[in-house]
Amino acid sequence: MEPIKTEIVVVGSGPGGYAAAFYAADLGKKVILVEREKVLGGVCLNRGCIPSKALLHAAHSITSARESERRGITYGPPSIDLPKLRAWKESILSRLSSGVGQLAKMRGVQVMQGRGYFEDSRTLRVETDQGQQFVKYDHAIIAVGSKPAMPRDFDLGNPRVMTSTEALELEDIPENLLVIGGGYIGMELGTVYATFGSKVVLVEALDSILAGADPDLARPVVAYAKKAFKEVRLRTKVGKMSTSGKQIKVEFNADGQKKEELYDRVLVAVGRSANADDLGLENTKVSFDEKGFIHVNEKQQTTDPAIFAIGDIAGGVLLAHKASKEGRIAVEVIAGQDSAFVDVTMPAVVFTDPELAWCGLTESEAKAKGIEVAVARFPWAASGRALSFDHPEGLTKLLIEPDTERILGVGIVGYGAGELIAEGVLAVEMGATAKDLALAVHPHPTLSETIMEAAEAFYGHSTHTMVRKKV
Ligand code: NAD
Repeated sequence: MEPIKTEIVVVGSGPGGYAAAFYAADLGKKVILVEREKVLGGVCLNRGCIPSKALLHAAHSITSARESERRGITYGPPSIDLPKLRAWKESILSRLSSGVGQLAKMRGVQVMQGRGYFEDSRTLRVETDQGQQFVKYDHAIIAVGSKPAMPRDFDLGNPRVMTSTEALELEDIPENLLVIGGGYIGMELGTVYATFGSKVVLVEALDSILAGADPDLARPVVAYAKKAFKEVRLRTKVGKMSTSGKQIKVEFNADGQKKEELYDRVLVAVGRSANADDLGLENTKVSFDEKGFIHVNEKQQTTDPAIFAIGDIAGGVLLAHKASKEGRIAVEVIAGQDSAFVDVTMPAVVFTDPELAWCGLTESEAKAKGIEVAVARFPWAASGRALSFDHPEGLTKLLIEPDTERILGVGIVGYGAGELIAEGVLAVEMGATAKDLALAVHPHPTLSETIMEAAEAFYGHSTHTMVRKKV
């Protein structure tokens, strides 16, 4: 078969790959998007961000109904129809995935379903159901993502030991669930299962959960976990696991002590690893770091001049919006523009209960790097809107450069923090000062006022708190 010629081939159709393919087509490039799975959208859409948010929404409706008792409204205990819940979740995924397909079609992006394998620096072989197809390209963008890490000791080949992929399938609600890892996935999916009725024990090797977040911001999430989970065990490592009838026998090591317990299911959420195997990249000049992530520079260029890499496979923080941003940068560089991933403010959101979000500099990072910052806080207990939502446990915090009063970082914990952080991103990106945030009228009563009031607190005159400016 004659090879197909294209200007750009994108391998992988996640939020990095499809964003890059669409943008390249919008800039007038001829683009082929290669995806090995039958559905478009990658991990984020099909077994990551979107299904987890759907399940968290369902879980929040239960929590909200339970909490409404203190507001004088009582519901009966929830009854969960798992097939219906799964069907609702799946309907969201298929709607989004077919939407991605339609958008590709409308832009003239050719979608090729099959596994991509690099024959050399300018040729991708795609193994489709109809046989092999060769694609000759000017530039390739690798966006093949990552997969859940499964340490060998935990890999029993027993479906009761799950990664996020299986946990999101929600086959059943185990009575006893062990979650290994107190990061994003452990906390989000631990929340889902605990709300649906599992007794969740979460173990974390480090001495705090959500280790990347500032401790004052993580505190309400930790408090929630302590209440909603059966137990949170810090500084605990799982040694061995084995199948024991219909359960999993787990050996724990904490403070030099060993103990064994039985669980109905185990969720392994200890990070993710690169998807770089079997891509044929040894036939190109692409190079990798010791963990298998592809080396890229700030222009998303790999060590092969024709090949770019974006998203999880390019390492750094493993976040969908980082992948999309890198995709746009790669396309702009290919199109001859002077773009680079430099000084990009990257928000992080953990969709726990309450949500936790931050962007720019964190207080822990400032301390570790010896960066002098002023910190302004506004506790949500002083926000009318937070109280009317019945969620006063939040906190909004600004990190401010003392001389210039520029906003260097924003951290928010509380109901809807994931939405609110966007104002922080804009402030940091635009080099806004605390004065800008304090002077901008925020609508009342909203949670967004907490950002304005934190800025006012920096000047010592926040209406709803008493903070004197230190002189
Ligand atoms: P993570 O890196 O966020 O957390 C893993 C945690 O497991 C760490 O705290 C680590 O100390 C702990 N750990 C590692 N080995 C352990 C062991 N043997 N015993 C006990 N604890 C152990 O990883 P994750 O939660 O698996 O998530 C993977 C990636 O997916 C993250 O990097 C994140 O960027 C991304 N993600 C993002 C979101 C979001 O943006 N809301 C949601 C889910 C996942």
